[in-house]
Amino acid sequence: MSTFLFSETIFGPIHSRRLGSSLGVNLLPVSRKYCNFNCVYCECGANTPGGSITLPSRYEVKDALLQKLAQLHADNQPVDSITFAGNGEPTIHPDFAGIIDDVINLRSRFYPNAKVSVLSNATMINNQQVVDALKKVDMNILKLDSALDATVKAVNRPTAHYTVSDTVNLLKQFNGKFILQTMFFEGDVNGLHINNMAENELSAWLKIVDELRPQQVMIYTIDRDTPEKTLRKATHNELETIKNKILELGVNVQVSE
Ligand code: SF4
Repeated sequence: MSTFLFSETIFGPIHSRRLGSSLGVNLLPVSRKYCNFNCVYCECGANTPGGSITLPSRYEVKDALLQKLAQLHADNQPVDSITFAGNGEPTIHPDFAGIIDDVINLRSRFYPNAKVSVLSNATMINNQQVVDALKKVDMNILKLDSALDATVKAVNRPTAHYTVSDTVNLLKQFNGKFILQTMFFEGDVNGLHINNMAENELSAWLKIVDELRPQQVMIYTIDRDTPEKTLRKATHNELETIKNKILELGVNVQVSE
């Protein structure tokens, strides 16, 4: 197994543990990863500095999605979700808001029951256009892997200024209409031991869950190969324990192993 890149702007449908039959929308380059995080567990691999970045235009995304949806519809193929994912952070795209409008329109035309989902690291929710666009989608899935700045720095390795408190305050704009996603694992990275399931980590993270009260929390663990080779998946029992603590708060939770 090795990390991989999506080689197309529209890819799939693939079977997603969390979203069912998921047709992917990759707003990032098709030949390299482009993200403002550099997570130790990223399935696309580590960031590569330098080089040119070519993003698909709004028109190219719309046209490619139209053709794919028309073909899938003609073939009676199911689509549960049209999902913004791919080779990095989708909300970085300068036309993200307009593309969301196009995708919602195409979804309504071909697969009105499908969800429009965005998997995001929540770094761009200080941008009003991005926030307004995320408020329109069905599954606004935003990452927070730890309540502790030091852990986020070690795990997600943000490439720009980032604090948990700023992110939590910005998440309040959604008034609970979002899904909080957290990857749980343990491992050693650059001489530092990371375990976001440790007691101090969990108690601080659960306080944030209680404060934000998202419509759902998605907890999951490593599924594919990762750039850092020493990482250990969360076990079934560890995820069940976390799930039960979330349920005790009265918050909905989905577990993917
Ligand atoms: S935010 Fe997502 S795409 Fe970016 S580095 Fe982390 S896992 Fe990879």
